[in-house]
Amino acid sequence: MKMRALISWIALFLLAWVTPAGAAPLSLTLTLERPLGLYTAYWQEQGPPLSLAQAETLYQNGQFSPTQATVPDFGIGAKPVWLHLAVQNPTALPLTRRLVLENSWLDAIDVYFSRNGKAQAVYHLGDGQPFSRRPIPSRFFTLEYTFAPGQSDIYFRIATPDPMVVPLYLLTQDEARQRESKQEYAYGLIYGFLIALMAYNAMLFFSLGSLRFLFYALYLAMFISMNVTYTGHGFAWIWPDSVKWQLWSHPLLIYTYALSGLVFASRFLDTQENFPRIHRGLVRYGAASGLLMAATVLFHSQLYALLVSFVFVFLFSFIMLALGIVAVRAGHKPARYFLIAALAAMVGAMLTTLSVWGFIPFSGWTYHAVEIGMLLDATLLALALAYQFRVGQEERAKAEQLAQKDPLTGLNNRRAFYDKTAAPWSTAQRTKRCMSVMLIDIDWFKHINDTLGHAHGDKVLVAIARLLQASVRQSDVLARWGGEEFIVFLPETSPDEALQLAHRLRKGIAQLRIPHANGETSVTASFGVAQKEVDHETLDALIASADRLLYQSKQEGRDRISSGPFLQCEAGR
Ligand code: GH3
Ligand code: MG
Ligand code: MG
Repeated sequence: MKMRALISWIALFLLAWVTPAGAAPLSLTLTLERPLGLYTAYWQEQGPPLSLAQAETLYQNGQFSPTQATVPDFGIGAKPVWLHLAVQNPTALPLTRRLVLENSWLDAIDVYFSRNGKAQAVYHLGDGQPFSRRPIPSRFFTLEYTFAPGQSDIYFRIATPDPMVVPLYLLTQDEARQRESKQEYAYGLIYGFLIALMAYNAMLFFSLGSLRFLFYALYLAMFISMNVTYTGHGFAWIWPDSVKWQLWSHPLLIYTYALSGLVFASRFLDTQENFPRIHRGLVRYGAASGLLMAATVLFHSQLYALLVSFVFVFLFSFIMLALGIVAVRAGHKPARYFLIAALAAMVGAMLTTLSVWGFIPFSGWTYHAVEIGMLLDATLLALALAYQFRVGQEERAKAEQLAQKDPLTGLNNRRAFYDKTAAPWSTAQRTKRCMSVMLIDIDWFKHINDTLGHAHGDKVLVAIARLLQASVRQSDVLARWGGEEFIVFLPETSPDEALQLAHRLRKGIAQLRIPHANGETSVTASFGVAQKEVDHETLDALIASADRLLYQSKQEGRDRISSGPFLQCEAGR
């Protein structure tokens, strides 16, 4: 499909070379779906404005040049241009056609219809006048004309500082309507998609509070505003009477779109934190361009405003891409999505900017490339934000887990112990189920540290932690309570069971052999096992009882278990 379009484009291009300018008038019985540039010839004013009569003379003297593209394009800030189009009505009846200039931003367009050198009708179009003055209320410059049998000449005089792109069509009413409805559906789809995405991200901002979502929503809003402006929807729907804003909205909204993109990128990639030098550069660049834009407004130079905004939006694409590359290389994971998104948007914006500027051929695809690129960009950035959110959550979960773990033994720390015992403790408070707390303190541990070194002491702690971990049940809560002290919370455990476990652990610890350079270490531990009683109103009270029993074990010679009185309670689970 693309290949065919390319070939026919080349064929038409060659045709324009061999056909002298204006020599073949356009027959009204032809249906032409492509723009009529190749049927036109042009003359660019060098001095003062020409009159129609002067332009006609120049044309008849062969001074006009053939237009060598389907869409004549004279770039930004071009001098006023005259275009000539000859139209042939081969029938015996008058034929009515719609003349459509598929452009919404040209400031002043004078259209003259003439027959045999006699002016028939004049129309003044352009967005330099209120929308209500248009002969046909379309976002494009459109008028209807009835061509008498025979040849008619159409002269256009176009003056604008904006990109002077002239996609010209001559269509029947049906064709025009079909073309318009196709375009409007496409825009409905684009705006619907982008507005839904924007609203959703604004909601994410309100519920999650992360500014990234807000800046993303703003970026989308600025893109929509810019697009609404240069497609002419804004003038048609929102500000039909505000000619001044219509003229200035183009440069200002193009500029703010690119600026909002930079702000989003800076926020998304966290440039202030991750790339402080680049961040400072961005801030200065933003400030300098802002001053330039303000100066153009102050000096009422629409042309310079357009130039600044076009250069800014052009460089914007490169900056986004460069930021993406820098962030990916720095190992910022979500930046991969950002980079692909920036690439899609850049290719799109580049194609459109270059085609509107006149460096590459202007076609439906190149004209809409920025929108296609933007849909891809918006989708990928939404994915990037979701991915970033996930990475953030995983990191938070990891950090939370780390904050609960004792780094040496991997056991719960004191905080985690309280977290994990809160629920079973309150359950036990309500019922009369048995419950115990066991405190374990290694005997003469300081001596091990002093004689064999702190590192070996650590090894002993780890070995004991492993043994404890392997011996307790899933529902027990084991934690490192302090230096060489461990605690086990035993819910729904009879005093018998708790004591059995204590004996197993005491034996297990005594049998441990921890090797070192000159042999191996063996250790013992003392135990305090307390059972929950009615007057244990808090877990800390129960732990204090276990601590007193542990102290008793130490007093009585260590390597032993002390336990409280056995009380009646509901055993089992
Ligand atoms: P007792 O039988 O009365 O409990 O004597 P002890 O030496 O075990 O008790 P004491 O409380 O006097 O000493 C505990 C020692 O544990 C002191 C401290 O340096 C050491 N310690 C605490 N935390 C660690 C640790 O993470 N690694 C190592 N290697 N030693 C630790
Ligand atoms: Mg000790
Ligand atoms: Mg101790």
